[in-house]
Amino acid sequence: KSAWKTVSPSNTARTSSSSADRTMFGKILIANRGEIALRIQRACREMGIKTVAVHSTADVNAKYVRLADESVCIGPAQSPLSYLNIPAIISAAEVTDAEAIHPGYGFLSENADFAERVERSGFTFIGPRAESIRLMGDKVSAKKAMREAGVPCVPGSDGALPDDPQEILEIARKIGYPVIIKAAGGGGGRGMRVVRTEAALLTSVNMTKEEARVAFGNPTVYMEKFLENPRHIEIQVLSDSFQNAVYLGERDCSMQRRNQKVIEEAPAFGIPRKLIDRLGKRCVEACKRIGYRGAGTFEFLYENGEFYFIEMNTRVQVEHPVTEMVTGVDIVREQIRIAAGERLSVRQSDIVMHGHAIECRINAEDPFTFVPSPGRVQQWHLPGGPGIRIDTHVYAGYDVPPYYDSMIGKIIAHGDTREQAIMRMRVALSELAVEGIKTNAKLHRELLADEGFFQGGTSIHYLEEKLRHRPKDAK
Ligand code: ADP
Repeated sequence: KSAWKTVSPSNTARTSSSSADRTMFGKILIANRGEIALRIQRACREMGIKTVAVHSTADVNAKYVRLADESVCIGPAQSPLSYLNIPAIISAAEVTDAEAIHPGYGFLSENADFAERVERSGFTFIGPRAESIRLMGDKVSAKKAMREAGVPCVPGSDGALPDDPQEILEIARKIGYPVIIKAAGGGGGRGMRVVRTEAALLTSVNMTKEEARVAFGNPTVYMEKFLENPRHIEIQVLSDSFQNAVYLGERDCSMQRRNQKVIEEAPAFGIPRKLIDRLGKRCVEACKRIGYRGAGTFEFLYENGEFYFIEMNTRVQVEHPVTEMVTGVDIVREQIRIAAGERLSVRQSDIVMHGHAIECRINAEDPFTFVPSPGRVQQWHLPGGPGIRIDTHVYAGYDVPPYYDSMIGKIIAHGDTREQAIMRMRVALSELAVEGIKTNAKLHRELLADEGFFQGGTSIHYLEEKLRHRPKDAK
């Protein structure tokens, strides 16, 4: 506990440090892997909190496993047997006497049953209440809650689609074509189908239902207006258990391939601050209304000056560093403080956006075919210099396992202006040298040199369009 005091020089003024000393965790178990496991570990160590790394047999040599105060192998390489193995993770917390569990992103981070079992076993889940995860995990109930809270949503069926074909046709007529059929339990860009004509509607609804039943165990689907050329804009929020909530501005994550984000930035180019602030306030109100606790992201599509809510992520996100770079708020630290029952360390009036930040996700994959490229990293030279932040667990000699997501790190560039952030990112990408595995660095170099990207404000279809016209053999 004394370590906590000495390593927290900024823990003054707005924070009640005496209550911090009483309530802060002594040990946290990190139920994740890769760069986010290291990111969470760094926050813990900075706060004087001991860490437990849980890992599969494939990750035994990971850097954060070695740096952790304790580590527990929770199973074989396949995630269902390790990183998704709830009993193994809870046992690991029991044998190590951890007080709280941080789920990171992906894996069990948005699993309400996990959150519940963590709490029932006597540990603190570093995230929202299971009830909030459940509410937001079902897109139909999430949209309903957001509509009631005054958050703007995509026009669509007010809830699940009925069974009656005539009613379905009627709903689509009212919304107007094209429409998109989405699975209530969908995620990761799956469980969606665009319908452009009435003739195709009923078959598409039935196909999406069937796919949703198989993939998500829930055949419920709903309908939305399909927006032709939107941008993806999201609002980061933090909310404590004392009805304090703030928004940390927005991120633009429109640069996507197959609904997967490739580049993210903050703030969003060209959107009036007034619009963002109005939206941010609505999100904060929604958090208070549903009793939300922790970090969260409200995702929106933005078209013709209007925002449309699509979903909420009830966890820390891959792209959280761009917000940290422009606001100076450590989101993971706040997550931990909130879970420990402390108050937010910032008020809305403290949050000022400084400059611009861009993140490039580095994936172990072929930059042309996007086929994953696991294997041994022979050479690993990272960029640095003013405004550059690197979040990665990789080192020279590291073996990228084939079992997990191909993202192996993130480069974040911050500058006073968007132009400066872009220039710094270009330099950073030129310094990055990786041998042994393929990475998408080449794609990032192309994008950072792209005229459309430089102009700013491109839509969610921009990257796919660009890839369609990319010379296949350009090497
Ligand atoms: P997931 O949970 O699978 O990520 P989302 O609801 O967040 O699903 O949607 C993922 C992506 O699908 C969005 O970022 C956007 O590119 C596209 N999308 C979703 N809804 C619509 C819509 N109504 N109109 C146009 N595109 C959409």
